[in-house]
Amino acid sequence: MKSARLVRNKKKILILGGGFAGVECARQLEKEFGNDPEIELVMVSEDNFLLFTPMLPQVASGMIETRHIVLPIRTVWKQTKFYESRIKNIDPYGKIVTLWGTGDKRGISIHYDFLVVALGSQTNFFGMADVEKNAYTMKTLNDAVMLRNRVIDMLEQAENETNPILRKSFLNFVVAGGGFAGIETAGELMDLLLDARKYYPTIHKEDLRVIVIEALPMILPGFNEKLAGFAKEKMTDRGIDIRLKTAITSFDGNEVTTKNLVQNPEDSVGEPITDVVRTKTLIWTAGVTPVNTIKRSMFKTEKGKVIVNDYLEVSDFPGVFAIGDCVLHIDPETQRPLPPTAQIAEAQAKIAAKNLISLIKNSKKEKFVYHSKGQMAIIGKRSGIATFLGMNISGFWAWLIWRNVYLSKITTFDKKTRVFLDWVIDLFFDRDISRLKIMKRETEKEYKLLDEVDDVW
Ligand SMILES: Cc1cc2nc3c(=O)[nH]c(=O)nc-3n(C[C@H](O)[C@H](O)[C@H](O)COP(=O)(O)OP(=O)(O)OC[C@H]3O[C@@H](n4cnc5c(N)ncnc54)[C@H](O)[C@@H]3O)c2cc1C
Repeated sequence: MKSARLVRNKKKILILGGGFAGVECARQLEKEFGNDPEIELVMVSEDNFLLFTPMLPQVASGMIETRHIVLPIRTVWKQTKFYESRIKNIDPYGKIVTLWGTGDKRGISIHYDFLVVALGSQTNFFGMADVEKNAYTMKTLNDAVMLRNRVIDMLEQAENETNPILRKSFLNFVVAGGGFAGIETAGELMDLLLDARKYYPTIHKEDLRVIVIEALPMILPGFNEKLAGFAKEKMTDRGIDIRLKTAITSFDGNEVTTKNLVQNPEDSVGEPITDVVRTKTLIWTAGVTPVNTIKRSMFKTEKGKVIVNDYLEVSDFPGVFAIGDCVLHIDPETQRPLPPTAQIAEAQAKIAAKNLISLIKNSKKEKFVYHSKGQMAIIGKRSGIATFLGMNISGFWAWLIWRNVYLSKITTFDKKTRVFLDWVIDLFFDRDISRLKIMKRETEKEYKLLDEVDDVW
């Protein structure tokens, strides 16, 4: 009787999303409630691993092996029950989250007492259907593997192509977006191309072009002008063509059309200047937007992002917290939304976990105030930029700091060692240019819903 009552009284904390925010939140909650029989921790995420995105461009360039930048959630959070599934619907009134079924399994519903929404973001194509259809993206592990295969394929096709225009379009690579993802991808892409080139005797260094297209007047907007300027100069020296104040308007799979953005309309004479770049490969990193599950939800949103109070609780729903890329949080200093970064996602996760614990234990909650610990980006060829402990660092030392900091952030010794060995191996050996033909996207299917209890036959 006693145990039945215990089970009934158990409070369930459900975390949605196994990214930086969700995983950090689970870590904090396990520390507090890991051995508490009254609390049940549950996580749902589409993938059964945490993807270490800052190293994704290095997977695309073949420097790091695919599985080395993922951390299987089950191997680290052993007291959190994990469901690998896609979330279909969140009902904050009924306190139920519904999961999609798959071809092999029916969907289920999970009841919760407390909810943490950490569903991150997806690529934003700003309504350009042709770009969405034809461009490559850099958000998931699948994207990185696909891009690497594409680049190798383009080199293979160009090597034996006699039509000079077609050959040129094989060897032009356009990266849309001059943020973290775009710049790091462009730098790594150039490294891969220059490294792989030696196996393609007809392809010369000057045949290869990487073009970065950015709508803002600077790249890496989170950094100060001096560091961003250094990054631009270094990348330009390496042959990367960076076009600022330029927006992509279409991509049909053969041509990228761009429009020159003039900041002050009085400076412009007539229509904006348009240009066309012939390329078969556009890599789109120009923006993110919260996932559709959030946009479809009953939560109050602005530009798709969940509106939260100072304690990261979702308005109108006490006991529901939202953290990470899917949240709108205005920086009181700049009056602008905080950018989508892993650092902010983890900082929010710590405060949300703390406030959830306070809610359960009836203690005082804490406001979320963000203090940046500095920023870092690598730009290829063992160079980078960093603001670290109040200092501006650029070049080799910034690159070295980047490597040390991000290696230390990989939590398991196993993965840390594997990444470190990949980096060491890369110093001595050429990149592998074998092209793997893989991947098929799974489509969503709707199956009969089963209640969580019914599922246990
Ligand atoms: C290439 C690249 C490089 C980057 N470099 C840096 C960097 O150097 N520094 C930095 O601070 N930030 C960097 N970022 C940004 C950083 O990755 C994000 O800000 C961070 O991942 C946000 O964490 P999150 O937990 O909010 O979202 P995510 O890490 O995206 O996690 C969201 C989780 O929710 C899951 N999910 C989403 N929808 C569903 C659904 N319907 N059902 C089930 N599960 C779902 C996803 O599978 C995922 O596990 C980079 C991003 C990219 C793409």
